[in-house]
Amino acid sequence: MSTRRPFVGGNWKMNLDRARAAELADALAERFTAPAGDVAVYPAFVHLADVADRLKASPVKVGAQDFYVGQEGAFTGEVCLSQLADVGVSHVLVGHSERRHVLGESDTLCNDKVLAGLDAGMHVTLCIGETLEQRESGKTDAVNTGQLGYGLAGVSAAQMAEVTVAYEPVWAIGTGKTATPEDAQKAHNVIRQAIAFLFDQTVADAVRIQYGGSMKPGNAGELLAQPDIDGGLIGGAALKPDDFAAIVSATG
Ligand code: PEP
Repeated sequence: MSTRRPFVGGNWKMNLDRARAAELADALAERFTAPAGDVAVYPAFVHLADVADRLKASPVKVGAQDFYVGQEGAFTGEVCLSQLADVGVSHVLVGHSERRHVLGESDTLCNDKVLAGLDAGMHVTLCIGETLEQRESGKTDAVNTGQLGYGLAGVSAAQMAEVTVAYEPVWAIGTGKTATPEDAQKAHNVIRQAIAFLFDQTVADAVRIQYGGSMKPGNAGELLAQPDIDGGLIGGAALKPDDFAAIVSATG
């Protein structure tokens, strides 16, 4: 673990009904009175207002898993940043691998979202990561630095204070397979060097880089002990308050 303030996010994805989302939010409010670092949860759109209400007095921030880049208007089915802010959202995810690979989001769209999210005053987490095929053909670093460079195009050094990068090897998401702490550290270090190249060393030293991909209480300690791993973006384990709390504790 570095001296950067740790940041753990819980991506609830398209899970839970209203009652269970409320129950999970209440359980987190109870557990996280003074967490060791920053904590955010990303519920489904339909639960955002209620979860934000329940976490209003808690240090746990509420984020959206996606949004539309346009302003309020005629965009059927979409949700814009001002609507999110209005219900208490302060954080957004951009470029999660499920959006890139299942919903077909391009690097250009991810970049538009990063810029729009920052303009709207959100804390933006840009997710990047290679597929198994890309990893096996030796393209891990090229994919990660490419997604990073495209995603952060036009972002200023000052705006980077509100950017977190989540390195999520696609083959490790929801599969139970985790990158070894050494492999994850190597990828994080390459990403940090790329940030120094795109901005400068001061920005690179300050940016938090989360690891995501089957992080659980049993492997979080080893991963978080790596010098360039500053927290986690958690899927499955974020739905279990005890597991999520144990991961957050492992950052302390
Ligand atoms: C994720 O979806 O961001 C994720 C890391 O999922 P999981 O922890 O379930 O692998």
